[in-house]
Amino acid sequence: MLNFEFHNPTRIVFGRDTIARLDALLPPAARVLVLYGGGSVRQNGTLAEVRAALGGREVREFGGIEPNPTYETLMRAVALVRQERLDFLLAVGGGSVIDGTKFVAAALSFTGEDPWTILETHGANVTGAMPFGSVLTLPATGSEMNPTAVITRTETAAKLAFRSPYTFPQFSILDPSKTFTLPARQVANGVVDAFVHITEQYLTFPVDARVQDRFAEGLLQTLIEIGPRAVAQPEDYDTRANLVWTATLALNGLIGAGVPGDWATHMIGHELTARFGIDHARTLAVVLPALLRERREAKRGKLLQYAERVWHITEGTEDARIEAAIRRTEAFFESLGLPTRLSSYAVGTEAIDGLVAQLETHGMTALGEQKEITPEVSRRILEASLVPAA
Ligand code: NAP
Ligand code: FE
Repeated sequence: MLNFEFHNPTRIVFGRDTIARLDALLPPAARVLVLYGGGSVRQNGTLAEVRAALGGREVREFGGIEPNPTYETLMRAVALVRQERLDFLLAVGGGSVIDGTKFVAAALSFTGEDPWTILETHGANVTGAMPFGSVLTLPATGSEMNPTAVITRTETAAKLAFRSPYTFPQFSILDPSKTFTLPARQVANGVVDAFVHITEQYLTFPVDARVQDRFAEGLLQTLIEIGPRAVAQPEDYDTRANLVWTATLALNGLIGAGVPGDWATHMIGHELTARFGIDHARTLAVVLPALLRERREAKRGKLLQYAERVWHITEGTEDARIEAAIRRTEAFFESLGLPTRLSSYAVGTEAIDGLVAQLETHGMTALGEQKEITPEVSRRILEASLVPAA
């Protein structure tokens, strides 16, 4: 097992009717900015419930944070907080709103010239952040219990991530019934995003981290078990409760402690979103299968363990078992409605040079847990993702 430090300060308040707990969770005299997205929380009543729970506190609202939140929009929120002298941020939404709120929080304490450098340094220059909490409405990213945010700069089509010890939410309210109004596509996306967060930490070079492996396998099996029902039966509370908690545990640091992280699927996927606007999880569904085939030698031990323990594949040669596990993974994504080939998105070979150039511009030249995914390897992964499934 690798050396590690694990510290996760986010308080989780889980269950039905937990939005009412906001009153006790925020400082009594807090001057609050509530941040939200394109309006789903206004339409489904979640925003009204949040406002009621905040009682007599001074509250301002900032809506319009887009999926794949942009620097340009978020800087307007920074200006509003300064102008209104607010001192607490409350994100109400999915990963985009929570990530965006992390950036606003960090930018407010930033003393350098240009807050965009927070992304360029991946958070190394963050020295503080305004306190914030979240009310989660979409299980997927784990942003509700991690310090990471992914922000897009429209001007340059750059989608970059940062993390800092200062950007954990103070608390997150997880009421599974607040996810009932999600469109099926977003639920399916969430299942796949969480699934790939787990594989990024589990399908890596083996370091004999047994409990992390068993946790990861349990989370993957839970997603395989409940994913289809979570999409088909939006008001099945217990299924949504299991999905919400699985997605949180997939990326709150627990299964990643003491093991190497890959994250190449995410980094390549970010370029696809930045360039073509493909949903985050949908980029992962096309990159992961090609990446696993490309890296099958380096990941051989873990792929065999994955085949046996997650998919119960025990027959055939090692290569046949690995291929069968990758095919089961593809079939799972496809069954949820996510294509596993880039060719499904009207993107062709002519796009590859530009995507590889973007990876180089963003310093993504030694990806993966062994840092062996050079731009040439990324090119092969992207090319393979264009070839229709056999
Ligand atoms: P999202 O972009 O936050 O939301 C997707 C859509 O779902 C929005 O149109 C939103 O509508 C809608 N929505 C959310 N909750 C809803 C509800 N309860 N009912 C109806 N509609 C609802 O999706 P996400 O997958 O959670 O976040 C994706 C972002 O997170 C990407 O930028 C990705 O790169 C990033 N990410 C972050 C991490 C991390 O560790 N921080 C990890 C993976 C990915 P409204 O806008 O109208 O509310
Ligand atoms: Fe993700």
